[in-house]
Amino acid sequence: MVVGGGPTGVEMAGAIAELSRWTLARDFRHIDPASARTLLVEAGPRLLAAFPEELAAYAGDRLRGLGVAVITGASVDDVLPDAVVIAGRETPCGAVVWGAGIRATSITRALGAPVDRAGRVSVGPNLAIVGREDAYAIGDCAALLQDGQPLPALAQVAKQQGEYLGRVLGEHGGEHREPFRFRNRGNTAVVGRNAAVFDFGKHRLRGRVAWLLWALVHVYLLVGFEKRLLVSVQWLWRYLTYQRGARLIR
Ligand SMILES: Cc1cc2nc3c(=O)[nH]c(=O)nc-3n(C[C@H](O)[C@H](O)[C@H](O)COP(=O)(O)OP(=O)(O)OC[C@H]3O[C@@H](n4cnc5c(N)ncnc54)[C@H](O)[C@@H]3O)c2cc1C
Repeated sequence: MVVGGGPTGVEMAGAIAELSRWTLARDFRHIDPASARTLLVEAGPRLLAAFPEELAAYAGDRLRGLGVAVITGASVDDVLPDAVVIAGRETPCGAVVWGAGIRATSITRALGAPVDRAGRVSVGPNLAIVGREDAYAIGDCAALLQDGQPLPALAQVAKQQGEYLGRVLGEHGGEHREPFRFRNRGNTAVVGRNAAVFDFGKHRLRGRVAWLLWALVHVYLLVGFEKRLLVSVQWLWRYLTYQRGARLIR
């Protein structure tokens, strides 16, 4: 069971479904892959709330095609040793993967500034903590509104904020002229083999082309030529052979 239908939950549910379909079948002859059940539970009305509806619908269809049971509009209230409680009803399950978000480190609450639901501390346009012009917060622990919307807790936001703050502190010693502005380079989620969604704002991609682009971007973002080459070769090998180790020794 995967809790949360954002990019993390969608990617996880797709990966588990593929593992049970391809890897279990080959590695464990006594396990019937058809008996493996993957459930994805989302509290909101649809998957991938941050993506356009058509891409979210595509992701849902792909997951269902992989055998994932998708439940939307129902929140997980409790996680028990062998079950989860979904909208008041106990559903037995063997393993639970939490993909419904994280909470910022508790130190943000000690700063005396307002925090949002996820414990992120409010910052102004120059990333200074609200009410404390001598301290700054960036990345996942900072809540910044841009055009009235909170910026998502994403690596590209954290990276751009780090670069901005380093630059303006170096140049102006804290006397910031221009406010921080996040430039969205696109949101993506991979749904499984040959299937991904990519949202660039005006342009949208889905399917194999989006999946290839997803792989290229992730390889490009790795540090150093050696790592890029190594990961590319490993991915290509796994793609061609369907090999994805799922053997755990306990
Ligand atoms: C499962 C998952 C999947 C994700 N996938 C994507 C993705 O595909 N694309 C994307 O853009 N983003 C993704 N993200 C989000 C991305 O990882 C974060 O937005 C990004 O790491 C934020 O960077 P950060 O430096 O603010 O925080 P972090 O990367 O969390 O770094 C904070 C560091 O501070 C340390 N720390 C915490 N408290 C203290 C303390 N009191 N003292 C000292 N050290 C402390 C922590 O140990 C940690 O090393 C994903 C997140 C998760 C959980």
